[in-house]
Amino acid sequence: MVQGISASNGIAYGEIFLYLRTELKVPAYPVDSDKRGGEVARFEQGLVVTRQQITKIKNEVEQNLGPDEARIFDAHLMVLEDQALISETIREFETTGLNIETCFDKVAQRYIKAFDEINDEYLRERAGDIRDVAQRVLQNLLGEAAHQLGELAEKRVVVANDITPSDAAGINRSTAIGIVTDSGSKTSHAVIVARSLKIPAVVGVRDLTTRIAGGDRVIVDGYEGVVIVNPTEQTLFRYGRIQTEKKTFESHLLAASRLPSETLDGVHVPLQANIEKVDEVAQARECQAEGVGLFRTEYLFLNSSHLPREEEQFAAYKAVAEAFAPQPVVIRTLDLGGDKPMESLSGLIHQEANPFLGFRAIRLCLEHPEMFKEQLRAILRASVFGKVRMMYPMISGVEELTRANTILAEAREELRQRGERFDEQMEIGSMIEIPSAAATTDILAAHSQFFSIGTNDLIQYLLAIDRGNDHLAHLYEPTHPAVLRTIKRVVDDAHQRRRPVAVCGEMAGDPVYMPLLLGLGVDELSMSPPSLPAVKYFVRAMKMSDARQLAAEALTLTDPKEIYARAEEFYKARVKVE
Ligand code: PEP
Ligand code: MG
Repeated sequence: MVQGISASNGIAYGEIFLYLRTELKVPAYPVDSDKRGGEVARFEQGLVVTRQQITKIKNEVEQNLGPDEARIFDAHLMVLEDQALISETIREFETTGLNIETCFDKVAQRYIKAFDEINDEYLRERAGDIRDVAQRVLQNLLGEAAHQLGELAEKRVVVANDITPSDAAGINRSTAIGIVTDSGSKTSHAVIVARSLKIPAVVGVRDLTTRIAGGDRVIVDGYEGVVIVNPTEQTLFRYGRIQTEKKTFESHLLAASRLPSETLDGVHVPLQANIEKVDEVAQARECQAEGVGLFRTEYLFLNSSHLPREEEQFAAYKAVAEAFAPQPVVIRTLDLGGDKPMESLSGLIHQEANPFLGFRAIRLCLEHPEMFKEQLRAILRASVFGKVRMMYPMISGVEELTRANTILAEAREELRQRGERFDEQMEIGSMIEIPSAAATTDILAAHSQFFSIGTNDLIQYLLAIDRGNDHLAHLYEPTHPAVLRTIKRVVDDAHQRRRPVAVCGEMAGDPVYMPLLLGLGVDELSMSPPSLPAVKYFVRAMKMSDARQLAAEALTLTDPKEIYARAEEFYKARVKVE
């Protein structure tokens, strides 16, 4: 049994295919002076062919897996076009007069070594990109065909010393049933591809390839990051059971995600998606989200070198509204600042000692009303293309809320003047994520039609625990009585004034916390799309009356860990197969 790193969930068992990438043997020979021009042309031709091959793979990956996975090959194309690599190869050739493969190999090896020695995982992986591209260029120059993993004829577990993104892209999921590599990390590109192909994978098993041989059989446990070579009957039996249980559980989740989100005692629980970008709409729909509960619009700004103008924003909001119509889409106004500074617009947010307590979200927007109004106009215009709701982040009190609403009234007026249509009834909500807002929901309710509790921030501000500080992570406790009491107060207050309350922080997507939130009276939950099936499955496995009892009991307890234990027990008693 070998412990590695879990890279892609799932269990596979089968005969291995030992895939050893061997370094190409590059012959060295002098080139006659009258043939030197031809040698450079041969090099250029090798680069052109390589470029065509990589572009072809890129297009295939884009079609089969999507643009994010295909981006890996942009990095390869960049290596291929690197002027330093090309001109140094030609200079090496001019100085030594040796064949172009030798010169290219020498320069590429120098780059690979330099990147390999950098103490940074990301940059070290770039050495892998250069190695992969260099190998391809050399194969093309030497006329050797690339060894394709895609040529596997039978179902095999691929055990390799390393798998490059090109290798991974050629993998056929019907024959490569599992992947094990000596090297690699959770973030290596090949692993990303394996994960999106849903092939169980374990990486970082060090020297396993030197200790096994063709004909050996292995179990790949992608959940635990374990590889078992030539397992006994007993182990096989055990894994068979685990696999069946996991499969049953996952198929339950998938099946449940198509069924109504309803508790055993018949209460419908709207489950919505948190999205950051327009292209996440597809995944959210696939996971059966009943609309979008939080569209984090700052990502339109973060990924941009400029401030997105009204038209650009309008197009994005319209696309999301249309994709979900008639289901609701809650667009949150800009939440830049905190841990989301906009690098390209450093002038907008100044260096701060405490960014999370600083110039963030609505504070920033109120200081830049023209920029804010562009966003408000874009959201208003999108409102005629679906059921759009809008909410403000980081509201700390009624003064901010009324100022924001005043600017909104101006934006509406400007659109009327321009003759643009918008939904006059578009609902306006406040995020409740600052304790001062939570303590004044009775006042805020007069100016908001709904509330959405941002537990990620609410917990950090209530408990004074930086949400991004991993040294304090153990103190960041969603089950702290202060958190539960605050949520309860917000809900009761809102309901008294007939305002619905959603939760869109990470707590909503965790099946252990979910019944506590529902039991406290929260009306809607919004979470990252992959969390939806598991949460819906549990909604369908519990009674709302039991959740209420759990929450009532939790409110009498004093220890966050005890409350967590009760909630976990509640979950495990109802979801037996895990
Ligand atoms: C939150 O604070 O819980 C929230 C949903 O907003 P964000 O994570 O974007 O701050
Ligand atoms: Mg927040």
